[in-house]
Amino acid sequence: MEKSVMVIGGGIAGIQASLDLAEQGYKVHIVEKAASIGGKMALLDKTFPTMDCAVCIFAPKMIETSRHHNINIITYSEVKAVKRESGDFKVTVWIKPRGVDPDVCIGCSQCNQVCPGKALDQFNENLMERKAIYRPFAQAVPNVFTIDYEACIGCRACERVCPVNAINVDDPGKDIELNVDAIILATGLETFDPSIITEYGYGRFKNVITALEMERMLSATGCTKGDLIRLSDEKHPKDVTFLHCVGSRSMKEGYPYCSSVCCMHATKEGILVKEHIPDVNVSLFYTDIRAFGKEFRAFVNRAQDEYGLNYIRTKPAEIREDPETGNLHFWYEETLTGNMVLHETELVILCTALVPSRDNAALAETLGVEVDEYGFFVKPDPIAAPLSTSREGIYVCGFSQSPKDIPDAIAEASGVASMVGSFIEKEATQ
Ligand SMILES: Cc1cc2nc3c(=O)[nH]c(=O)nc-3n(C[C@H](O)[C@H](O)[C@H](O)COP(=O)(O)OP(=O)(O)OC[C@H]3O[C@@H](n4cnc5c(N)ncnc54)[C@H](O)[C@@H]3O)c2cc1C
Repeated sequence: MEKSVMVIGGGIAGIQASLDLAEQGYKVHIVEKAASIGGKMALLDKTFPTMDCAVCIFAPKMIETSRHHNINIITYSEVKAVKRESGDFKVTVWIKPRGVDPDVCIGCSQCNQVCPGKALDQFNENLMERKAIYRPFAQAVPNVFTIDYEACIGCRACERVCPVNAINVDDPGKDIELNVDAIILATGLETFDPSIITEYGYGRFKNVITALEMERMLSATGCTKGDLIRLSDEKHPKDVTFLHCVGSRSMKEGYPYCSSVCCMHATKEGILVKEHIPDVNVSLFYTDIRAFGKEFRAFVNRAQDEYGLNYIRTKPAEIREDPETGNLHFWYEETLTGNMVLHETELVILCTALVPSRDNAALAETLGVEVDEYGFFVKPDPIAAPLSTSREGIYVCGFSQSPKDIPDAIAEASGVASMVGSFIEKEATQ
C-alpha cells in the first residue's frame, strides 16, 4: 500500500523534507496556508554568507516540488482536525475560498488586468499595492491567481474575462480528508511587530523600516525594483543605520531569546546597501555579534574591512525625527567609554525579533502536540531526538522548532525525512 506523509508548511524546510520523502517513494501532501509555497526565503534578495541570489537557489526547488509525481501541493489551506485511526492520521484540511480553481487556472493574468479592486501587497511587506485578484509573486507555486475577498468589490469582471472558466467568485471553500502515516511540522517564522516599541517610531516615521521591508526594496522584483530609496522623499540615503535585537534578547518588550540570524542578515543587508550606493555610511548598532556559523566571522570581518561597515556596541533608547528633512537621530552611550554620542542618520532599519508562526498554539492543540511559552513546537528530548514532538509519528523541522538559518533548516528537513522514513517502515513491520 502507498505510504504517505503530510508536511504542514511549504517554506524551504517543508519543501526540502517533501522532496527527500518523495524521492524515497512516499506520497507527500504539502498543506500551506498561503497562496503559494515558498515561505520567507521567497522574500529574500541575497543569502549570507555567500551572497547567492536567494531565488536562484530556491526557484529550482519550487519547480521540482511542483513537478514531482509524488508531491501533492495544497495551498491556501489549513489543518482543521486530526484523528488517529489504526495507526494512520486522518486529517481534515480546510481549503479556503480562493475564487479560482488552481487545477484549471493557466496563470494568464487576464483577470488581474481587468480587476478594479486594490489591496496592500503582503508579499512586498505592504510597501506597494496589488489587485484584489492576485498572484503572490512571479515564481509562485502553483502559478495561479487568488481572490482577496477583503479587497474584492464583487464586480465579477475576472469571471467574465477568464478564458478557461477557472473563476467562481462564490467559491465556498471545502474540506478534504487525507489519511497519512506521519506528519511533519514546518510552519516557520513570523516577525515581531516593532510598532510595539513606540520609542523607535516604526509606523510613525516613514524612514524607519524593517529588515524584511529592506529585503523587498533591495530585490530586483521588489517594490522599488532594487532602487534603495527613502520612503519619505524617494532620495538615495547617504547614511543608513541598522538596529539589531529589536524585540529580541529583551526581558522588557518582546522575546528574551536570540533570533539567531539577525546579526548575519543585518551584515548582508549592510553590504548590499554599500553595493547599491557606494558612498553611503552604514552603521550597525548591536548587542554582541553572533557570527557562529561556518565562514560567518570572516563575512563580518569582510563587511568591516572591505566595505567599511561601522559596528557600534550599544542599544539606543529613543529615535526622534526631524519633520523638515525626515532625518532621524538618537543618543547612545558608547559602552566602552561611557560617553554619550548623538547619531544622525537618513534611514533606520530595525532587525526585529523572529517568532514562530502565531497559529502554532491552535495547530498544536489540534494535533495533540506541545508548544513552549513562545510557540515553538516542543521536543521532549532536545538532545537525543531534536526533531521529534511530544506525539509519536509527528515530527518538526526548520524555524518552527527553534530559530535558525536556511542551511540549518534544510539540514533538519533532510534529517526529519530520514526519521519519518524509518518510522513508517518500523510501523509497517509491527
Ligand atoms: C529579514 C530576514 C533576512 C534573512 N536572510 C537570511 C539569509 O540571508 N540567509 C539565511 O540562511 N537565512 C536568512 N533568514 C532566515 C530564513 O528566512 C529562515 O531560516 C527560513 O525562512 C526558515 O525556513 P522555514 O521553512 O523553517 O520557515 P518559513 O520560511 O517561515 O516557511 C514556513 C511556511 O509555513 C507556512 N505556515 C505557517 N503556519 C502554517 C499553518 N498553520 N498551516 C500551513 N502553513 C503554515 C508559512 O506560510 C510558510 O510558507 C532571514 C530572515 C529574515 C527575517
